[in-house]
Amino acid sequence: MHRVVILGGGSGGAIAAKRLGEWSRPGEVEVVLVDRSPWHEYRPSYLWVMTGKREPDQVRRPLKLLEARYGTRVVQATVTRIDPDARRVETDAGPLDYDFLVVALGAILRPDARTDGLEGPWELEHALRLRERLREFRGGHVVVGPAEWPYRCPPAPFEVAFMVRYLADQRHVSDRTRITVFHPWQQPMETFGPLMVEGFRAFLQQFRVDFQGGFQLASHDRDRRVLRAADGRTLEYDLAVLIPPHAPPEAVRNSPLAASGGYMDVTLPSMASPRYPEVYGVGDVVAPTIGLGMAGVFAHFQADHVVTQILDRVRCAYLGELYNMVGVCVMDTGYMGAAVWCDFTDKLYGRSPYPDCRLLGGMRLFRSVKVGFERLWFASLFGR
Ligand SMILES: Cc1cc2nc3c(=O)[nH]c(=O)nc-3n(C[C@H](O)[C@H](O)[C@H](O)COP(=O)(O)OP(=O)(O)OC[C@H]3O[C@@H](n4cnc5c(N)ncnc54)[C@H](O)[C@@H]3O)c2cc1C
Repeated sequence: MHRVVILGGGSGGAIAAKRLGEWSRPGEVEVVLVDRSPWHEYRPSYLWVMTGKREPDQVRRPLKLLEARYGTRVVQATVTRIDPDARRVETDAGPLDYDFLVVALGAILRPDARTDGLEGPWELEHALRLRERLREFRGGHVVVGPAEWPYRCPPAPFEVAFMVRYLADQRHVSDRTRITVFHPWQQPMETFGPLMVEGFRAFLQQFRVDFQGGFQLASHDRDRRVLRAADGRTLEYDLAVLIPPHAPPEAVRNSPLAASGGYMDVTLPSMASPRYPEVYGVGDVVAPTIGLGMAGVFAHFQADHVVTQILDRVRCAYLGELYNMVGVCVMDTGYMGAAVWCDFTDKLYGRSPYPDCRLLGGMRLFRSVKVGFERLWFASLFGR
């Protein structure tokens, strides 16, 4: 019996547990999933927590449900150290040895004087706090943007801005509402190629959202409500929705699995550590190292491929889940839905500077797709 330890029960870790449960045979693998939280959270729906369409229990499920459904042993503990030479993980509930390790710890949000207290919906509690701030909103200048790049879900600040425009229209305060997205990128969605830049410029115009590119957030004068960029530009605001800096989890950064930036190093397309072939990384914890955006869809497909390889090594199983490098992000822009579809294959192999992207959108139908996918996600993973 091989022991597979999965670190993290977010998008990547939960899918890995599901696939191991579905695809393995009795007696082949023992699967242990470790997460410091008792919940699996579906982060895209934080946006609907922000707008009051969802309550916290509608966007999360207990990880313990994985035990009955897939035979996964779920351990609620914080991972403190990964020792790949000893094939051991230390947690605050004790050590765990493994034959295969799947690291799916995501990225963590760092407290930061520039953003603290004014965070956007990048964590559940921040989404709830922002909902309270939006409750009072009756017009003014709204600024939305990240302290740094990268962060979870690259198009999400734009999505937040479009949703605020919808809210302003709903409250009949749009005539006194100005919305600005600021970003370190010079152009909106520039790392996704010219088609995306053009598409997002059209959306910005349609929803009357200004864009301040090349804005590296340097400091924040809270008393005067002014954000200052490294080049001296300033943005005064009435309501700020800020994305805190993201960082690699400490257990990864302090381990031999880390690449120079602290996120995990992996070889493409196997997603295995170059030094430790029995250790795999999926999701946001590897995204900056390989040049992908932080998106659940990537974590999902990477987990499929990693589990295929583990079971191939255990049994010589022909499962056929090759690495799919396509990502889709469906946005709720208020009046309608839109989807960003990108194939990263050529970018990841250095054959193109950009992923091959399409903007599918401008249709109400896409809002239903987003609602339907949320339902499908929970039903297929947890049965409810
Ligand atoms: C507002 C918003 C909208 C989004 N929209 C989309 C979208 O439309 N499409 C899309 O594909 N993606 C979207 N994303 C991004 C997506 O949610 C993430 O990319 C995805 O969750 C990454 O999955 P992951 O498994 O790598 O990490 P996560 O889902 O972040 O899971 C990491 C897990 O590790 C646990 N953990 C961390 N550190 C420790 C530790 N030391 N010990 C124990 N446990 C630990 C955490 O509790 C967490 O459960 C969105 C994100 C946000 C915030």
